[in-house]
Amino acid sequence: MIIETLSCDICGQKEPYSINPIHEHPELELGGVPLNIWTPEYTFQTDQKLQIDNTKRGIKRFHQLLPIELDEKVCSNEGNTPLIRMGEFYLKDESSNPTGSFKDRGIAALVSEAYYHGIQKIAIPSTGNAAISLGYYCNRVGIETVVFIPVNTPAEKVRQIRKNSEIIIDLDLIESYEHFFRFCKENKEVQNGFPANNVAYIQGLKTTAYEIFMQLGNRVPDYVLVPVGSGGNMVGLYYGFKDLKEIGVTEKMPHLISVQIIGGDPITVGYETNQHKKLVVLKGLPNSKAEAIISDTCFNYFKILKILNETKGQAISVSDDDIDKIGSQDNLEYSSRAVFPVFNQLQKKLSPLGCVVLLGTGSNK
Ligand SMILES: [Zn+2]
Repeated sequence: MIIETLSCDICGQKEPYSINPIHEHPELELGGVPLNIWTPEYTFQTDQKLQIDNTKRGIKRFHQLLPIELDEKVCSNEGNTPLIRMGEFYLKDESSNPTGSFKDRGIAALVSEAYYHGIQKIAIPSTGNAAISLGYYCNRVGIETVVFIPVNTPAEKVRQIRKNSEIIIDLDLIESYEHFFRFCKENKEVQNGFPANNVAYIQGLKTTAYEIFMQLGNRVPDYVLVPVGSGGNMVGLYYGFKDLKEIGVTEKMPHLISVQIIGGDPITVGYETNQHKKLVVLKGLPNSKAEAIISDTCFNYFKILKILNETKGQAISVSDDDIDKIGSQDNLEYSSRAVFPVFNQLQKKLSPLGCVVLLGTGSNK
């Protein structure tokens, strides 16, 4: 199975799949960073069966469902993470991925595609997890990496990134993004690996949905709560559950719930004020320890608002205080723990919720 075409969400134009799509909407760039505007189009060969190849490792087990090139040498043991029953909900614990976060699923796919296309060097801007993951996977096949990080990146993360990547330190994340995009334009031999709008990356993230379905005994949950930063994980999950419908193993979609931090929550603000056509860019972000899900805007903004509408989902924001009150699950990274207070809020409003899955996106290391 291959991606037949990429269809632009904004104007509907189609172009053949490429790892560097040409069509752009400069009016939707934020500081030189383009939004994710692509919907990949592909046709399943499978017939009402979720095909899993248990002779393979990692996300490659699902190669029959993923319309991208996955390489044995790149894929590690990413995915296959536990779904843990915790009283009234399940926790999908992504901290057991090779580098400790859900990003490994997407980055394994992104690096596989790059490797297949003969790319020798990949650059990304990052605050930590994506950079650690990129270095790990590229190192497996000898691809060089250069990572743009803000000066306040935690020392432990910098230490881990340095193991496999060249580091360029900028004043803050906005400067890192701008520097990164300038660098990619000036150095054509370097592949722009910006994950949030990378087609292969989002395909890799679909595997979380397949696993949840299998682990629930071939059942789609009623709700899935997803921490949202740049939004790739939410979009990947949505595509994954949609594939299950397409294949014919279910007719149901879960309600997808986006989780952000009050004040740094463009999705919640946009959803509550019905701004489906206009990108929300917030000013003056509050201080929060949940750095992965606090942002002035979202690179998957339009996609996620559509997803919330289509799945009759919700956008819910909480504060650091709300997270601190939960006071457990400290094996999960702080941003990820935001799903617990959101579950409590939902339960008060909508009980009984049925089968609920909370996404634990990474480990607290
Ligand atoms: Zn377009």
